[in-house]
Amino acid sequence: MVVGRIRARGTVGYMSATPQSGEPVDVLIDGAGPTGLALAALLTACEVRPRIVQCRGAALTNPQTLALHPRTLELLSGIGVTGPLLDRGTLIRRLCLHAGGRAVSLTPFGTGSPGTAYPFLLLCSREHLERTLTDYLAARGVEVEHDTELFDAEESREYVTCMLRRPDRRTRRLRVRYLVGCDGRHDIAGDAAHVESREERGPWRFLAGDVRVADGPRGDEIHVFTGEAGLLLLHPLTREPGWRLLVVGRDGTEERPDGAAELGRGADRLGAGTVQVTEVERVTRPRPRHRVALRYRHGRILLAGDAAHTHDVLEAQGVNVGVGDAWNLGWKLALVVRGAAGEKLLETYETERRPVADAVPRHIDRALRAATSPRLASLLARSGLAPHLAPLLPALQQGRRSLFRGTAVAYHGSPDAVEGEPRLRGGPRAGERMVDAEVIRDGTPVRLHEALAAPRHHLLLCGRVEEWGAARTAPLLPLVRSGLLMVHRLAAEPSPGTLCDARGTVLAELGVARAGHYLVRPDGHVAYRAAGTDLTGVRAHLADMLPGIDEG
Ligand SMILES: Cc1cc2nc3c(=O)[nH]c(=O)nc-3n(C[C@H](O)[C@H](O)[C@H](O)COP(=O)(O)OP(=O)(O)OC[C@H]3O[C@@H](n4cnc5c(N)ncnc54)[C@H](O)[C@@H]3O)c2cc1C
Repeated sequence: MVVGRIRARGTVGYMSATPQSGEPVDVLIDGAGPTGLALAALLTACEVRPRIVQCRGAALTNPQTLALHPRTLELLSGIGVTGPLLDRGTLIRRLCLHAGGRAVSLTPFGTGSPGTAYPFLLLCSREHLERTLTDYLAARGVEVEHDTELFDAEESREYVTCMLRRPDRRTRRLRVRYLVGCDGRHDIAGDAAHVESREERGPWRFLAGDVRVADGPRGDEIHVFTGEAGLLLLHPLTREPGWRLLVVGRDGTEERPDGAAELGRGADRLGAGTVQVTEVERVTRPRPRHRVALRYRHGRILLAGDAAHTHDVLEAQGVNVGVGDAWNLGWKLALVVRGAAGEKLLETYETERRPVADAVPRHIDRALRAATSPRLASLLARSGLAPHLAPLLPALQQGRRSLFRGTAVAYHGSPDAVEGEPRLRGGPRAGERMVDAEVIRDGTPVRLHEALAAPRHHLLLCGRVEEWGAARTAPLLPLVRSGLLMVHRLAAEPSPGTLCDARGTVLAELGVARAGHYLVRPDGHVAYRAAGTDLTGVRAHLADMLPGIDEG
């Protein structure tokens, strides 16, 4: 039965297409931008080989500088690509806030242990990110199919028939079990799934340009100049002319035809003489517009990244939210394709990720309002308060976790985020990101995230090793043998293979007094947790989410 169908303009129709023989492909990813590549990489790490098509050739002409958040670097570290990314990027550790003639240097990206192994923004070129992920895939036998455009898709109950076209206009038909649209704003998959979008316009006006600045400020900081008239954001680029300048004013401020001159004037006015723009390139007026698809899924067609949501202002959210989508969807889709999970788990993709995109304009608006508030300037002017500024302003505080780190993303209320009994008091709640800190394993320091990095489910048994006899975990052996679950022990006393927290600080951070357990999902979020050593609840949760695995 046909349940969804589109045909893009200029299609040559099915009759001229070369049919593809053989079984349906498990997953086709449409678009090899950052989201599609990240999704392909995670699926591959989860032992599902996707096909990935890309309408343009292999050469990248897009010179974007991307700012990757700490959380994005944490996610990508799960498959070992963060190291190569760091090798050729610029680390931004500080944000310098200028207001009322004063400046204060903040560390909004975290300060390292115990928070995150990546307490900085990584500026890297889009080309480097895409090359790193493409190399990861190629090393595992997955090649991006360049010069191949998806131009039509038709969904039935059993599979999706995808129509692919080469530049010489030859077409072929491919049957796939799941199609994931990662085609940015092109929306072929979104059309196929009859997905509609909702748009929101914010009360801000933006003007951006790539600039050269004289006597430039430090190249490893982001500079924010604020005043009641608006805000000026200056951040380094990974290419010439060296800096990107963004002027933000309230809607209704006068717009001049000469963008370059307006940018220079904005820098003079808000930068109070500190920022001297000597050259301006590529001036744009990003529209204060957010577009979020009303649905991320229609049967066998799913959307991720810019195909599902775009945030035209403060674009620095785009790649991070896209990689977050990929990391939420990839392991779920892999488990479904492998027969371990079903509808219930796949449904959580939209319920968990759509609110994240929905919240972006709210966070941006709150941060901009706080940054342009007269209160900020007066607080800064009283130098004694300056070091405590960020904690004093909840909007900035919330903004820094949401906008700059990505670590505040949580899936409270999701069916795959359950608080078990007896309750743990304190620690990351179900749905939240697992905390990270250094522990010792067999005499060697290791971070908790590193120990739980493999894209599998991880059961962390906390408390004295004697409390966790083999009989307690025996029913979970089929899951362990299938490679879907890894079991770890965290205790204050050292013993072979145990993660040792001699000072008890990590156990305290997890809210564990005597004993407790955490089930951590392949994307690093807590799926289930409870105090004590009774694993009945976590087994029931696993059986609910992974019904395809028999405890035997
Ligand atoms: C100037 C600029 C600066 C930015 N800076 C940042 C930043 O610092 N940090 C940040 O997080 N974000 C930034 N963004 C936003 C970011 O680039 C996007 O959010 C991100 O690229 C989205 O990734 P994606 O893979 O979802 O989509 P895209 O990057 O749009 O990739 C989609 C891919 O699909 C391909 N495609 C399209 N249609 C088809 C089809 N029918 N068949 C096959 N292939 C198809 C396209 O060629 C493309 O390669 C910036 C954007 C701009 C414009």
